[in-house]
Amino acid sequence: MDGTLITDTLVVTCDDRRRVLDHAAVAVQGNRIAAIGPTAALEAEFPALQRVAGRGIAVFPGFINAHTHTVLTVLRGTVEDFDGNSVYAYMSPVSWEMSDAERAVMASLGCLEAIRSGCTTLVDPFRFVAGYAGAMASTGLRLWLSENAADINTLRIRAGDYTVDEAFGQGFLDRTTGIIETLHGSHGDRVRCQVAAHAPDNCSPRMLASLLDLARRHGLTRTVHLSQGLDEQRAVRAAHRATPAEYLDREGFLGPDLVGAHWTFCSPSDVDLLAERGVQMAHCPANSSRRGPHRALIGRIRDAGVNIALGTDNMTEDIFHALKIGLIVHRGGRGREREDGVDPQPEAMLDTITRNAARSVGAAAEIGSIETGKKADLTMLDLNTPVMRPIVRLTSNLVHYGHPGIVHSVMVDGAFVMRDRRVLTIDEPALLREAQAVTRGVWQRMLANNPDIAPPPGGLAWLDA
Ligand SMILES: [Zn+2]
Repeated sequence: MDGTLITDTLVVTCDDRRRVLDHAAVAVQGNRIAAIGPTAALEAEFPALQRVAGRGIAVFPGFINAHTHTVLTVLRGTVEDFDGNSVYAYMSPVSWEMSDAERAVMASLGCLEAIRSGCTTLVDPFRFVAGYAGAMASTGLRLWLSENAADINTLRIRAGDYTVDEAFGQGFLDRTTGIIETLHGSHGDRVRCQVAAHAPDNCSPRMLASLLDLARRHGLTRTVHLSQGLDEQRAVRAAHRATPAEYLDREGFLGPDLVGAHWTFCSPSDVDLLAERGVQMAHCPANSSRRGPHRALIGRIRDAGVNIALGTDNMTEDIFHALKIGLIVHRGGRGREREDGVDPQPEAMLDTITRNAARSVGAAAEIGSIETGKKADLTMLDLNTPVMRPIVRLTSNLVHYGHPGIVHSVMVDGAFVMRDRRVLTIDEPALLREAQAVTRGVWQRMLANNPDIAPPPGGLAWLDA
């Protein structure tokens, strides 16, 4: 059987004992980790495997981005400084303006950035997924995909219209059923589906019930954007006389199989309710802090024992950025001063992009740590880089100072998608050119077709560099 033996390397397992093994080897056969142990022993046990010299490299479990929208790289460098509800003002409209081919190009750009950021897995809820999932899958990444379902027309909310649009909602339900039938378990089970409710302010009780039913019938995990903005709080209060968390609970939508993204405006009692129901969190600290450090009650959330996974959310796939901002936000999450302790420690932040994130998609037994029998999803970091030296506490270096420039190689399902800094699955120069052209076309069309949408802050001055 073909496979790879990474020899004489430093392995950060993220297993239950958080073992770090130096001068170790990792044997990969097919898409699985066949063994981890001393190099000499594994060289004797696996003479036929292709050797990869691992000195100067650290092998981590593949990083998992627990919440992102790769297609929205089309908005990069435009709406980050917009002072308003960018979800309805830009993100929903642009997603409907794009063709399948355009979404495929921008999703591929996101995948490229993710691979160069050391990610092996993306959890990506969006719209019209069937039209570009193949392009994402061809990059070699492991994917959890879903349709961000809503039955309150997200194209009309920016005009203040929150009426239920049954045809709009049915489209999402049909597309969700479609991807479950065609994509779930495809590409050697590298691509799976979730059921996603977009957000509490754009899903009626009937939509939530339909989604819950779909998830149960197909045994899928679920996700929802939760308490992301004040507009959402106000709309849910007006429609249901409840907070978003209370509304979802009333409709039976909360549970351990649900991952809520954000939690930014959750009240203390919301946090307690979500924790009691076993809801998991996809925290997107870098995205949520774009307008200044955000106010999620992360200390209370951590203290309640909620499983926290980290995501990048919009316009970036740089998981190192999320780690760095996340460390700051989590350490400030109790509103305490430094004498109360430096918590969490770097190892706990690393958990949020490995084992916690694996658990958030129901895959803790398959990915999230380097253990015999698990899927061979590995991120290899170059230790011979300035930010990784000196090495005293490797995970501290990674969390505080890591950046995509330290990613050496990335393996998903036993196959290299990036090796020795070269991405093997994507024609990078061509993709970068295409992404520039697509973005310009999409913006021009969106503004022409929607006179009420203003150009983003700073305008659109195209730089054909
Ligand atoms: Zn999101």
